Amino acid sequence: MKQVKLIRTTQELRAWRRSVDATVGLVPTMGALHAGHAELLRRLRPRCEILVLSIFVNPTQFGLNEDLSKYPRTFERDRELAQSQGVDVIFAPDPAQIYPQGFSTYVEETKLSQPLCGSFRPGHFRGVATIVLKLFNLVRPEIALFGLKDAQQFFVLHRMARDLDLDVSVEAMPTVREDDGLALSSRNVYLSTEERAKAPELYRALTVAAEQLRRTPERVSEILSQTQDALSCHGFKVQYLEFLSLPDLVVPPIVSLDQPYLLAAAAYLGKTRLIDNVILNSGRLGEYGVVLEG
Ligand code: AMP
Repeated sequence: MKQVKLIRTTQELRAWRRSVDATVGLVPTMGALHAGHAELLRRLRPRCEILVLSIFVNPTQFGLNEDLSKYPRTFERDRELAQSQGVDVIFAPDPAQIYPQGFSTYVEETKLSQPLCGSFRPGHFRGVATIVLKLFNLVRPEIALFGLKDAQQFFVLHRMARDLDLDVSVEAMPTVREDDGLALSSRNVYLSTEERAKAPELYRALTVAAEQLRRTPERVSEILSQTQDALSCHGFKVQYLEFLSLPDLVVPPIVSLDQPYLLAAAAYLGKTRLIDNVILNSGRLGEYGVVLEG
């Protein structure tokens, strides 16, 4: 099997990209790869001639009290997973490559990045949009694939690509879960055995709430507050639980049964922050130019 090519510098990446005349697909990650990342690669593989995986723990998307220094780093395992998924190139730069001395230009999406994680992680989506735009400029992919595990991130990046006329199709695929429903995340390794046993309740509570919302959408505030109580009873400290319309991520003035919505939550189990979501009526998102895979 062909060895995956490892590129560490922007200069080398640019030189390589200039030499390539083929359809390029990109999966941006922060490494510590799991089966969710593998699925992104597996789905994108047949849709492009060259598959690029980026691994970069992006400092500008972490807040001051967040887990940048202890974020899991498992490069050798990541390389093996990339190899097994037929990745052609891993781009894994050092922070100094991406943010050279005097770096002072950022990209900011100003609406979709405000609610949900945006209101609790100031600057987070500015960091995400900046790194992803830089990766798009360096790799110049035709398609970039993201996970709906981070649904708000996807909608922000999709909007950025549209607003800035980027020549890339920003697409998303469903969340990959453990058998018990817990969304795979590189941060799940922070959970203690006891917390890990409780963690699937987050998705369970969201699916129950989504089903109730489908049946009785007019009861939205009651359903949200019952769900919040149920999560507290299971030992979660809920940071937010919101029901927003898609793709604009605003509180819907009235809830109609056939429109797309995002039911999203962030909650702490001990020190570990988990996020998860359910999308209702995702089939209608195509009408807004949003491509969801699967
Ligand atoms: P991360 O490395 O966590 O920044 O994630 C890199 C990409 O993988 C993002 O597009 C995430 O949404 C996606 N991703 C992470 N976890 C999952 C999952 N459980 N299912 C699907 N996609 C995921």
